[in-house]
Amino acid sequence: MAADGVSGNGSNIVVGPTRSFARLEQTFPTLTDAEIARLRRFGELRSYKDGELMFETGKPGPGMFVVLAGHVAITERDGLGHVTPIVEQGPGQFCAEVGQLSGRVALVDGRAEGEVETLLIPSDRLRALLVAEADLGERIMRALILRRVSLIQGGVGGPVLIGPSNSASVAALQNFLSRNSFPHHLLDPERDGDAAEIIARYSPSPSDWPLVVTVDGTVLRNPSENEVARALGMVGGPRESRIYDVAIVGCGPAGLATAVYAASEGLSVVVMDARAFGGQAGASARIENYLGFPTGISGHALAGRAFSQAQKFGAEIMIPMSAASLDCARKDGNFKLALDCGDEVRSRAVVVASGARYRRPEIDNLEKFDGRGVWYWASPVEARLCAGQDVALVGAGNSAGQAAVFLSGHARKVLMMIRGGGLGASMSRYLIERIEATPNIELIFNTEVTGLEGKPGASLERVRWRSRLGGEEMSADIRNLFLFVGADPATNWLDGCGVSLDRAGFVVTGAQSDLNLGRPISQLETSVPGVFAVGDVRSGSVKRVGGAIGEGAQVVAALHGFLGDSAKPGL
Ligand SMILES: Cc1cc2nc3c(=O)[nH]c(=O)nc-3n(C[C@H](O)[C@H](O)[C@H](O)COP(=O)(O)OP(=O)(O)OC[C@H]3O[C@@H](n4cnc5c(N)ncnc54)[C@H](O)[C@@H]3O)c2cc1C
Repeated sequence: MAADGVSGNGSNIVVGPTRSFARLEQTFPTLTDAEIARLRRFGELRSYKDGELMFETGKPGPGMFVVLAGHVAITERDGLGHVTPIVEQGPGQFCAEVGQLSGRVALVDGRAEGEVETLLIPSDRLRALLVAEADLGERIMRALILRRVSLIQGGVGGPVLIGPSNSASVAALQNFLSRNSFPHHLLDPERDGDAAEIIARYSPSPSDWPLVVTVDGTVLRNPSENEVARALGMVGGPRESRIYDVAIVGCGPAGLATAVYAASEGLSVVVMDARAFGGQAGASARIENYLGFPTGISGHALAGRAFSQAQKFGAEIMIPMSAASLDCARKDGNFKLALDCGDEVRSRAVVVASGARYRRPEIDNLEKFDGRGVWYWASPVEARLCAGQDVALVGAGNSAGQAAVFLSGHARKVLMMIRGGGLGASMSRYLIERIEATPNIELIFNTEVTGLEGKPGASLERVRWRSRLGGEEMSADIRNLFLFVGADPATNWLDGCGVSLDRAGFVVTGAQSDLNLGRPISQLETSVPGVFAVGDVRSGSVKRVGGAIGEGAQVVAALHGFLGDSAKPGL
């Protein structure tokens, strides 16, 4: 491989000039002969000729290759025809990243250099290896995760987004890809000559931006999240003929916890989410009250770990994929979930973990600026849009407080608008103190946002608000408004299936539900036997990450009870 980079730790690692790895030894470990001998039972020998492509960007990866002899050149390739060396793997090293746990598309090319002998371990055997070989599995798992992290940091293997970096629709798509830990690379036509040329050639109209160029060179114009996901091969489909033990709707903390515990206890599991893993928690810049993280952890980092863990135990994950409806008739003994893509998932039990959707208050023109300056979360992507500007934020709960503190590190000023006259009743003391100590957060009490202004089809330009105590309507040039005004349960997809909801639409479970089955009722079972509910969507739940995760763990015991699973392990 032509690469003039640094040589790592005396091994065969050659890092290309554009790439550097923070934890090189952990990212590209070299296994001993004894360790490779332990791996042999999981794979089969495969040989490749000089120059042969072993795996290819954008095509499903065959699994993990352990290199026994020869070398493999790993290169990145984008849809604009750029090929960049990343690393070279030699004897004792292995080629894979975390996507190979579930047979996802490869994000890089791997090509044999000279004659190459490998041990190919397919995805299902790789998962078995990680579980059976605890110490070795831990090293391999860490390397797979670190590799994905470095691909994300370098924008390697994903699509190229072309559009102005301060455009709201570019930010919305970047947010979608980031929330799903999918690498991508942004080219701003104002700073990059190639990008300006491509825009001039393909689509000079701003309504077509961003352009998304996939690795095979396909150009999508201002695509929806689902179109991008399909084009990138992000979504694994359900296996039509398979009947899962449990189907979980929602991949927030509650759904992820259910998936990890259920899959690790031997149940066959499918999980789906309409948008991204992590749910509401994935939108939290810093969770400070989750047990075991004294310095706090971002919701995305916490959920990302759980997402990898669920895959390690074999849960099949489909994102983005919405459950459209649930059929509880069980004519053939199974529940049927209709998916928005038209497919169907069949399972013996269902766990409702669909959480809550951000509430949209009554504000003039709100829907026109959704995703164009109106945001319901505050991630680094949105924060970048606010650099040096004034932003408005509505809400008085902990999520609003966290977001205000986070945004104050990027924006010139955060105008925090609060309906009531104080924060004490709705926000934790530590956050109130932090807000009070932050000079560029201005608290405006007894206030309601009344309207939004901007040109048709363009981004938000101006926000109007009014004091609830009377007086003139005020307004200011504000291009980003953050709304943290609570959430409603995401239960539309349960319409007509017989699952009882409370007056606010949350799922009723346990003794409150109308079940009379002649057996003890799980606290988490709904009015339909075999359908369970966990986390924020459940009536009476505590609406906290810790609560959602606890319920995810708890529901698995109830699932075993319902399924009559003789393989239930002892606790
Ligand atoms: C900004 C913010 C900060 C927060 N900070 C904290 C904190 O510091 N500490 C704390 O304890 N809690 C915090 N919370 C609350 C915490 O995030 C929630 O209690 C927790 O995420 C609930 O988890 P869940 O899995 O029940 O639901 P959710 O997180 O709401 O996840 C539900 C998932 O279901 C998916 N879904 C919905 N409908 C469908 C469908 N039909 N088909 C497929 N998928 C569907 C959604 O896309 C979503 O990903 C915060 C919340 C927010 C918004």
